[in-house]
Amino acid sequence: MPELVLRNLPLFAGFELFRRFKNRNPDAIETVREMFPASSACFICDEPVGADFDLWISDDPDNPRRLSVLSVICGDCMAQPAQVRLRKLRSVVRAVWPKVRHQIRSVSPVGVLRAANR
Ligand SMILES: [Zn+2]
Repeated sequence: MPELVLRNLPLFAGFELFRRFKNRNPDAIETVREMFPASSACFICDEPVGADFDLWISDDPDNPRRLSVLSVICGDCMAQPAQVRLRKLRSVVRAVWPKVRHQIRSVSPVGVLRAANR
């Protein structure tokens, strides 16, 4: 059973790592691979992400002013239309953080979640 891996980083450091990963910075890719082994579960579908995954980031709903939370999404889920991916992403977010109201502001390249009422 693959394990859902959620990693916290300080808010700025998390979004900076995300930005560098998206820009294919080799150091950032290496860092992210160390944080998320290939056996990590896809945040959306729960299957192992393998070596070819994308990164997902949000401010942590439990501590949105200080922490970011990162997880991974598999290639199959990333290949789905953005609206489908967003709908699934929202339902997982509601399951993981049921007490927090969420707003996902962006779906491209992956959803960026922000806790409401910040
Ligand atoms: Zn997936």
